[in-house]
Amino acid sequence: MLKLFNIHSEPIPLKRIAILGSTGSIGQSTLSIVEQFPERYAVATLAAGRNVDEAFRQAERWRPRMVSMGSEELASRLAAKLKAAGITGIDVVHGTEGTVACSTHPEADFVVSAIVGVAGLEATHAAILAGKPVGLANKECMVAAGEILTRAARERNVLILPIDSEHNAVHQCLRVGQHDEVKTIWLTASGGPFRQTPLEQFAAITPEQALKHPTWVMGRRITIDSATMLNKGLEVIEACRLFDVPPSKVRVMVHPQSTVHSLVEYVDGSILAQISVTDMRLPILYALAYPERPASTLTFDLSALRHLEFEEPDFERFPCLRLAFEAAEKGGAHCIALNAADEVAVEAFLERRIPFTGIPDTIGRVLASTPEAHPETIAEVLAEDREARQRALALVG
Ligand code: MG
Repeated sequence: MLKLFNIHSEPIPLKRIAILGSTGSIGQSTLSIVEQFPERYAVATLAAGRNVDEAFRQAERWRPRMVSMGSEELASRLAAKLKAAGITGIDVVHGTEGTVACSTHPEADFVVSAIVGVAGLEATHAAILAGKPVGLANKECMVAAGEILTRAARERNVLILPIDSEHNAVHQCLRVGQHDEVKTIWLTASGGPFRQTPLEQFAAITPEQALKHPTWVMGRRITIDSATMLNKGLEVIEACRLFDVPPSKVRVMVHPQSTVHSLVEYVDGSILAQISVTDMRLPILYALAYPERPASTLTFDLSALRHLEFEEPDFERFPCLRLAFEAAEKGGAHCIALNAADEVAVEAFLERRIPFTGIPDTIGRVLASTPEAHPETIAEVLAEDREARQRALALVG
């Protein structure tokens, strides 16, 4: 096999990856990177959710050591399919324990954390405790337990590399300056499909309208979160934790072209931006290869760039963004409640139990009843999360 050499002419060691959320869009993009760079990457373990057929296809193609499914029943279905196909040597596990076993597997060198929601939290924490570098695509982990995760990572000198496109851009822009030279981290936002919708029409927005994102094709919750801009609010909190800055140093700029993925302004007045194709494979490749930059075909045609627009976000149109900044200031339980209440409210909106404007209303009411607290353990975070969900559920019926 052709061997790749780095600039020091040493062979590049094969990195074996645990993919948490392998059947989702980030998981599939990660597998396409592994496919393109077989000399660099291999699959160690896969944690899938409910999609048995896709998990089977992935197991058949990648022959991981272990596959975890969402439940015992789904795991037995996968195990039966593997057996029928004569595929052996793959441990099939399930649930939170199964995901943790995947993320801490002795043969995994790197963990891609891409399970949506707090479901991936324990496995991500366990990976850090086990000293494994993490490529983080799951922003809820950072929002709900960022204080705990970043502390554990600092203590063990474990790298957390952001895969979220904005934070990945910020990570790149931060490589050229010192922490105390950073004036503002500017997170760009597409503004979603309702950037110019008259305010009085917001209450009548349907799930179908909200599920049409102008730039990215993503999961259902994150698409609705982009339409309310709560997603950007979660990213503000994520940025505070990942880059160890107060909320006052993070600002949001609406940039409908989504070409500049984010920017860092330094105290001397210089602003650095990261520009690339809107393709998640690039931030995934960056995280997997850091601190190297392998050559890829993900090129961007600079001559096609005609204009770049930037405008301040309208907090009246997007109250979720204001609520997120308030939660970011308080930290701890408020960030957990923000995320939990939103997940419940988005589900209720998709099931037509509450209007679009009911999403910020629900979050606001849950936050108002949240006490100031700073959970110290993952168990306390999850308890706080469950409690906030119950209060949100009581509101949406
Ligand atoms: Mg993002």
